[in-house]
Amino acid sequence: MSDCLFCKIIDGSIPSTKIYEDDHVYAFTDISPVAKGHTLLIPKHHCQDLFEMPEEVARNLYAVAPKIANAIKAAFQPIGLNTINNNGAAAGQTVFHYHLHFIPRYDEKEGLGLIWQTQKYSAEQLAEVAESIKANL
Ligand code: 5GP
Ligand code: ZN
Repeated sequence: MSDCLFCKIIDGSIPSTKIYEDDHVYAFTDISPVAKGHTLLIPKHHCQDLFEMPEEVARNLYAVAPKIANAIKAAFQPIGLNTINNNGAAAGQTVFHYHLHFIPRYDEKEGLGLIWQTQKYSAEQLAEVAESIKANL
């Protein structure tokens, strides 16, 4: 995609700090890291988000995820690490070429201010939700 920022990073027309590359994926440092070691892993095949991603592209991308996570862990010894993928502006996506964030955690209070508000669902309600999703697989 000629007007896509991350496609331009892959083809080298926009500079990036490369961490890893193979035939299918490219990993580089986030330009505005949330924490030291914040890395983005992207498919070379342009797809906007997870909804558009072919299974083969997903397989090739996630196959590399443990390697990236373990390299960050070995380099900086974080106490934890979040992988995050935002799909759609409402979910916080700002670059519309799929990317998986690797955000190492050094302190529970530092870096990622993730607010995770849980809701109360009965077993019947959970079963209803599961049925609705299963019907669309
Ligand atoms: P999103 O909000 O879409 O999940 O994440 C987009 C990420 O891309 C942000 O964390 C942002 O800092 C990063 N980003 C935006 N532009 C560039 C760029 O030109 N180079 C790099 N390396 N990262 C970028
Ligand atoms: Zn792209």
